[in-house]
Amino acid sequence: MDALVLEQKRELSLRDFPIEREERLGAHDVRIRLHTVGICGSDVHYYTDGKIGPFVVNAPMILGHEASGTIIETGSEVTNLKPGDRVCMEPGIPDPNSRATRLGMYNVDPAVRFWATPPVHGILRPECVHPANFTFKLPDNVSFAEGAMVEPLAVGVHAATKARIKPGDVALVMGAGPIGLVTALSALAAGCARVFITDLDDAKLEIAESLGPITPINVTSEDFAKRILAETDGWGVEVVFEATGSPRAAAAVFEALCPGGCVVIIGGQSAPIAYDAGAAMVREARVENIFRYAHVFPRCVGMLASGAIDVKPLITRRFEFKDSVRAFEIAASAPKGDVKMQIELPQ
Ligand code: ZN
Repeated sequence: MDALVLEQKRELSLRDFPIEREERLGAHDVRIRLHTVGICGSDVHYYTDGKIGPFVVNAPMILGHEASGTIIETGSEVTNLKPGDRVCMEPGIPDPNSRATRLGMYNVDPAVRFWATPPVHGILRPECVHPANFTFKLPDNVSFAEGAMVEPLAVGVHAATKARIKPGDVALVMGAGPIGLVTALSALAAGCARVFITDLDDAKLEIAESLGPITPINVTSEDFAKRILAETDGWGVEVVFEATGSPRAAAAVFEALCPGGCVVIIGGQSAPIAYDAGAAMVREARVENIFRYAHVFPRCVGMLASGAIDVKPLITRRFEFKDSVRAFEIAASAPKGDVKMQIELPQ
């Protein structure tokens, strides 16, 4: 079957790529015909750099991990899903018996197998086999495109959960990329009265502003901390989410944080960064780190269905599967104003 294969750094091909191990349907598995797959920053990073931190692409690997599709077959023990069901899938499968899993933090299980993280293949291919427990039914009013947004949204919802947002909190999200925007939406859904968001790209900030009570700040022309302190009676924000992955932004996370506030580090850093321990101390700041998410897909689907969160404005471009190599070239050029690009597979 044809798949989008990252042969090596900077070389993609759409070609036949049989996966033996994946073809077998276990008793607790479902077989899914893929419908929509989002292009994630991590996919693009593997394409341009051939690695992310310790994860190195040493052999051809299929990309893609943000997906929705339709069940076409179920294992003998599966009772909660049936052929024809529209679903989205959680891409990371932990060892069910590991110590981390039993402690309820399966996302940090060192044994987790995550789509399109070498050596595990992703799902830019017509079909996949997946555990039913990590496959979630989409209500009729949630489209495949929205279903494929559940994975990035889960990061924002997990971050908002770790922040322990209280109704009326004010937050700052650093970075208006896909993860920054889903984090802003999650913070508002969790009860924030207002969210400030920073970026370098006016087009992304414009999208952010259209999503709710979100105040955009372009850091190329404005000192974000000064502006926030001026607009919060000198107090600052209760929560800061770092979603740029930029060392410079991460070094500034305490600047607009109020006393007793919380910082959530979302953006990955490839090297150690400056961390202002003194600024954290005088605020008694709480600092949280997140790594993907743990069991928030049902909440995300619920919020998309109820309208508590609308991710549709974040989907800025769609491609057909046959054009997926071009889609990645465009994504790698980081066009201004583009948030989430998605690929649709033939049905
Ligand atoms: Zn992703």
